[in-house]
Amino acid sequence: MRDPRDPLGEQVEIVVASGKGGVGKSTIAAVLAVELYRSGYRLVAADADAEAPNLHLALGVDKWDSVEPYYEGRVAFIRRDICTNCGICAEVCPFGAVEVRNGNYVINEWICEGCLTCSFACPVKAIRYRFKVKAGEIKVAGTRYGFTLVSGESMPGRPNSGKLVTEVKNRAKSLLGRSGVLLVDAAAGIGCQVISSLTGAHIAVLVAEPTPASFSDLKRIHKLTKHFMLAPMLVINKFDLNERFTKVIEEYAEENNIPVVAHIPYDENVPKALNMGRPLHEAFPGSSAAKGVLEVVSYIKKEVLPNWRRWWSTYKPKKPEIYVPIIK
Ligand code: SF4
Ligand code: SF4
Repeated sequence: MRDPRDPLGEQVEIVVASGKGGVGKSTIAAVLAVELYRSGYRLVAADADAEAPNLHLALGVDKWDSVEPYYEGRVAFIRRDICTNCGICAEVCPFGAVEVRNGNYVINEWICEGCLTCSFACPVKAIRYRFKVKAGEIKVAGTRYGFTLVSGESMPGRPNSGKLVTEVKNRAKSLLGRSGVLLVDAAAGIGCQVISSLTGAHIAVLVAEPTPASFSDLKRIHKLTKHFMLAPMLVINKFDLNERFTKVIEEYAEENNIPVVAHIPYDENVPKALNMGRPLHEAFPGSSAAKGVLEVVSYIKKEVLPNWRRWWSTYKPKKPEIYVPIIK
């Protein structure tokens, strides 16, 4: 018998993802977060797009309760008292981080990835490292809707934003506690931030538009969700802009056992709601797009969360998609 005050009894991680950017992920994530929380689920939202975070904008968060620096990695510098200006470090640096300034070789800290190559090559061992470089920030805010938002923001030029996303998720999980929904708004693409978003998650809400570019990116992100054994559902946004291509995406979903849970029409109210800093269904409750996004909420509330493990086992891949690195 489930405890009505704790209907899940464990953490369930739902990731809103799309291969392509600008297809409405944050709009959908904001509405999902507000409505699942209102339905009685404990919930923490995590913005896992550390290079372009915007879930806080969709939720109207303009003040953070805490902002903590995130330190990671190292950058090289040259000891002037040892360097002989031979230029070998500039030749070997794979990132072009070594520059000549005023006749001396110096390392541009914005570009340096701390890969150690130059220090192995330097004949006089003149290269040293600064550790604990500020790579970003982890921000936490209580939203006006009652749940907490954790967001990451990487510093310009710093590598490893995937690790920052992992930290953001870990912080969100610890704030969530033993059970509830962790709702993750992933970055676009299939890079390290997205991989960090999908790692350990259970359910993917994949968002696509009926365009060849979005369909191609959908297939790439779907492949990644199969590698991490997530059960996917599909939302087709702006479906009415190209109904022929919507059909193509629907056929792909059917062939791949992905339930299509909502068709959202094109609606000019979507960018207006973002500009107002309000979730779409709050800003324009009767709009056609808001109704479409609420179909996603309704599906998750009715079909997924009452017995999410059964739903997951119905739609998860039969076996993980194997990733084989191609090495030349
Ligand atoms: S540590 Fe790597 S990236 Fe940085 S300057 Fe040296 S070779 Fe270039
Ligand atoms: S390789 Fe070493 S000695 Fe040569 S320019 Fe670079 S830091 Fe200076």
